[in-house]
Amino acid sequence: MFGMEAASSARLLVWIDQDLCTGDGICTDHAPEVFRILEDGIAYVVEEGQVLNDPGGSGSLAVVAPPSEKAVIDSAAECPGECIFIEFEELPELDTSRAPAAEVGR
Ligand code: SF4
Repeated sequence: MFGMEAASSARLLVWIDQDLCTGDGICTDHAPEVFRILEDGIAYVVEEGQVLNDPGGSGSLAVVAPPSEKAVIDSAAECPGECIFIEFEELPELDTSRAPAAEVGR
């Protein structure tokens, strides 16, 4: 509308099923800021520098910063364990109906 593009209204989240991880490190090659292999030789997700190492499911669901989204998607596509899971979370639309009216020049 009016030549403006709508802002993205979804964010990408990622988690790993550690039971299936082979530890080959393809994900850490693609996105070391999102994936990390710990001492157990298994990959975990990282959010804002914090490893989410509660294995076993979506409890370790990390929000992916937009600059890392493509690398995360590539990692999931190439993961030999097929254990990188991506979810999209819809963000609430901004309610612009309550925005203050613009001042009109006198
Ligand atoms: S690419 Fe997949 S199998 Fe390989 S270390 Fe990463 S999560 Fe594990």
